[in-house]
Amino acid sequence: MATEKTDIVIIGGGIAGCIAAISLIDSYQVTLVDKLLEPTERIGESLAPASQRILKQLDLLEDLENQVGTLYQKNVGMQSYWGSDQVHLVDDLRNPDGFVKNLNRQAFESYLRKAVEARGVHCLWGSKLHSSSYENSHWQVQLRASDDPLHTQTISASFVIDASGRQSHFAKSLGIKRQVEDKLVACWVTLPNTKTNTMSTISASENGWWYSAVVPNDKRIVAFHTDADLIAKSELKSTASFLKLAQNTTAISEILKEHEHSIIFQGTVAANSTKLEQVAGQQWVALGDAALSFDPLSSQGMFNAMASAMQLRVLLLEFGFTAELQKNYTEQINQIWQHYLKHKSIFYQAETRWKTAAFWERRQ
Ligand SMILES: Cc1cc2nc3c(=O)[nH]c(=O)nc-3n(C[C@H](O)[C@H](O)[C@H](O)COP(=O)(O)OP(=O)(O)OC[C@H]3O[C@@H](n4cnc5c(N)ncnc54)[C@H](O)[C@@H]3O)c2cc1C
Repeated sequence: MATEKTDIVIIGGGIAGCIAAISLIDSYQVTLVDKLLEPTERIGESLAPASQRILKQLDLLEDLENQVGTLYQKNVGMQSYWGSDQVHLVDDLRNPDGFVKNLNRQAFESYLRKAVEARGVHCLWGSKLHSSSYENSHWQVQLRASDDPLHTQTISASFVIDASGRQSHFAKSLGIKRQVEDKLVACWVTLPNTKTNTMSTISASENGWWYSAVVPNDKRIVAFHTDADLIAKSELKSTASFLKLAQNTTAISEILKEHEHSIIFQGTVAANSTKLEQVAGQQWVALGDAALSFDPLSSQGMFNAMASAMQLRVLLLEFGFTAELQKNYTEQINQIWQHYLKHKSIFYQAETRWKTAAFWERRQ
């Protein structure tokens, strides 16, 4: 099969990949590749208010806001049981960027994919990065159809953006490792919501912390976050074990009890803080979770993916595919990481009720 040529190939059509593609398509020929034919249901719904500035800049905000109720619902605030068993209310009433948007994450990713296609990006859904090589100042990127390993395709690109999420498949294939800060995992369920109070809830517990949010279609997400080595795998594997874990956390067990028989156990996913040891190299960069993955406590993962994509655009237009780009991009990502680690530590240190419990001791 003939090799297809493009300026920039982006591996991964999640939030980072789609925002990068939309922001770059006016200046470059862009090919966007994702192993999934369509986005799937996943956790991670809370869109930080500052993200809306980026969506507006890319002309994506108005259409999104026209679909309130299906693509997202307004999050009026958070009930927090953190540092004390007294509830503390946090809201965005005075935030100039407005409220948090609780997304239907799957629908939001489909929305971004449609926008990417409409802007003229060449999209290859259902194609997976297989291997790559650097020849004559170009990357030869080999793809395989996700549903047919015999169907392969080669893209020749001047620049590669690894936006493949925390697996950072492209960087990994170059032998680059990740710096791992902790072992946090998130175990999550979905259930119907019938409560009129649709505020999110966060509640610390001896072995981790709980989170609950209401998303469109009268649905609720509840998640438990702990360190993978502090809990037996069997405790993170079914609705029954999930309910048992929640029994000492009143704010959460009350929510779960109401729809106990309609809870759908969704699974356990990695939620730890990690950083790619090298975030840029010869004509490539890693973006979004592929570069830095954040603790969900921050609720900043999607915003970081979007903001880093916008920064990358500025650097690409200024420096092109050069070593200067690598240097400046690496500096920016390192700054974000240092800032993030500092804030993460402040948040965890605000909870002092279980100082000797391993989960909290590790974070003091
Ligand atoms: C439990 C949990 C809760 C979270 N909650 C929030 C929240 O409330 N708010 C928030 O802002 N963030 C949250 N996050 C973080 C947020 O989900 C991520 O930061 C965000 O998804 C990063 O987007 P991304 O595009 O970089 O990566 P991803 O969303 O992981 O996208 C990567 C894409 O690459 C594709 N891909 C992977 N490998 C290949 C390959 N080999 N070839 C081709 N395609 C490939 C995947 O199919 C995927 O579409 C949460 C994360 C977790 C784990």
